Amino acid sequence: MSYNINKNGYYGEFGGAFIPEMLYPNIEELKLNYVKFMNDPDFKKEFNQLLINYVGRPTPLYFAKQLSKRHNTKIYLKREDLCHTGAHKINNTIGQILIAKKLNKTRIIAETGAGQHGVATATVCALMGIECVIYMGELDIERQAPNVARMKMLGAKVIPAKSGSKTLKDATNEAIRDWINNPENTHYIIGSVVGPHPYPDMVARFQAIISEEIKWQLESIEGSSSPDYIIACVGGGSNAAGAFYHYLDDKNVKLIAVEASGMGIDSGKSAATSILGNTGVIHGSKTLLMQTKDGQITEPYSISAGLDYPGIGPMHANLYKTKRAEFISITDNQAMKAGVELSRLEGIIPAIETAHAFAVLENKKFKKEDIVVINLSGRGDKDLDTYIDYFKL
Ligand SMILES: *Cc1c(COP(=O)(O)O)cnc(C)c1O
Repeated sequence: MSYNINKNGYYGEFGGAFIPEMLYPNIEELKLNYVKFMNDPDFKKEFNQLLINYVGRPTPLYFAKQLSKRHNTKIYLKREDLCHTGAHKINNTIGQILIAKKLNKTRIIAETGAGQHGVATATVCALMGIECVIYMGELDIERQAPNVARMKMLGAKVIPAKSGSKTLKDATNEAIRDWINNPENTHYIIGSVVGPHPYPDMVARFQAIISEEIKWQLESIEGSSSPDYIIACVGGGSNAAGAFYHYLDDKNVKLIAVEASGMGIDSGKSAATSILGNTGVIHGSKTLLMQTKDGQITEPYSISAGLDYPGIGPMHANLYKTKRAEFISITDNQAMKAGVELSRLEGIIPAIETAHAFAVLENKKFKKEDIVVINLSGRGDKDLDTYIDYFKL
């Protein structure tokens, strides 16, 4: 059994493309072409050059000496926080802007919650000189002013979604509506391993550069390309998908996916989708999501804006269902503490999303000789106000 996607666009029972008929031509065009484009030598060359010279890859695999000592195990950090724009998201937007060019699209749309994906998208649109429209909930625009300013600085147009809860899911609806109205010239860049097939697989393949690098980096340091554990936080699941990708079918490597349980699993203010969710359709894909008995999507909560998504990508739903990955949920409090610990011990301030992955170190015992790789998905600059308010620093 493989844990990767099958030829029908499913991971086990999860995935597929549940889309309005009007989007069928766009999705079909993408589905028929994405693998062909990605395997094209010119495409590969341009993608790799941009990853090296623009994003700053390969990112280091750093042995965290103090953290290892504190937790009595061997901890390596995959430094995605050092990517241009401060997180792994740019790996995917670089890939997708090249796909858009191949498809002769002249206009890019995207949705964003906290603004991180919007910034990564606006960045690559500026790089390529392509028109960029970002949909963002009106409430999120208020809450995430610095990222809105960044997108504007980069030349993107930010359109507020004013319906519903005025947050991410409403922005997604607006973006889909735009795509239906502009199918000819527009490509929709989705920011995580979510959405209709082929998006989850396409995004996972672009993020797979993370585990591709871990393999050769670990081989050269430890003499073996396989760690005992890989730990990554999961919002939609793209940084985890990238960190797990080349180890999915290597059972010697234990995968740990970390979700945000916010104020606690039973508090009603949580984003622990695997535990609290059940099967349904969200953003065009069959997966696990948090919903009411009659199928209304539950508003998620986490202190970290990048993890408060009501679903998880279909790859992760399958990793959960088959128990290939262990899912651990971490509260706001636990994550914030872990964020300070990493800052003080290693001089690295993580994004609050990422801090959830580090909190596992307090909650699970590793052996002294275990090699544990933690995917450091992003830097904490964007979260300084939250850290300062929280700890009254
Ligand atoms: C967006 C974001 C995440 C969550 O998204 P995934 O698709 O689950 O990776 C995690 N960490 C950081 C730093 C982010 O910006």
